[in-house]
Amino acid sequence: MEEVKQTPQDIKPTNVVEEKKSRPSWDDYFLGLLEPLSKRGSCDRGSQSAIIVSPGHTIIATGYAGSPPGMPHCDEAGHMMNTVIHEDGTQSQHCVRTIHGEENAILQCAKDGVKIEGGTMYMRMSPCYNCAMRIIRVGIKRVVSQKKYHAGQKSIDMLEKCGVKVDIIDDSIMQYAKQ
Ligand SMILES: [Zn+2]
Ligand SMILES: [Zn+2]
Repeated sequence: MEEVKQTPQDIKPTNVVEEKKSRPSWDDYFLGLLEPLSKRGSCDRGSQSAIIVSPGHTIIATGYAGSPPGMPHCDEAGHMMNTVIHEDGTQSQHCVRTIHGEENAILQCAKDGVKIEGGTMYMRMSPCYNCAMRIIRVGIKRVVSQKKYHAGQKSIDMLEKCGVKVDIIDDSIMQYAKQ
């Protein structure tokens, strides 16, 4: 057996430096929670999830896509699809059975009487127009999204127009069937 000699310098300071290097930023920390949260969702179209965080980096609420309590869920009853024809003639398809992750997080705060104003919302894909209106209305000041929603450019434009900072981490569109 070969003995490896380690001085205290070899052991402690090196470990401390490595720990500091691997510590995620606040953004990375919250973004990393989105995927596990999305697994509670009952509509797998994009598997959206959202986290509302206070200016002091405290998680206020989380949300994922789900039907109102008492109504059937997409993963048991199938999606409830609507086709939207836009003014420019293009079409997009949407499941309207669920309350979206962003709205569910906001509604959780309404239900519990928790203040959201000034907070940041993290999400897997940028919000739809309805959710974006609600994000603005409740005073969220920053949106951080991993990817873009296929019909979400109008939402991003509106958020920015209304003074909400939008950070998209990966500038590609979240892909799933029937968009
Ligand atoms: Zn669905
Ligand atoms: Zn939405």
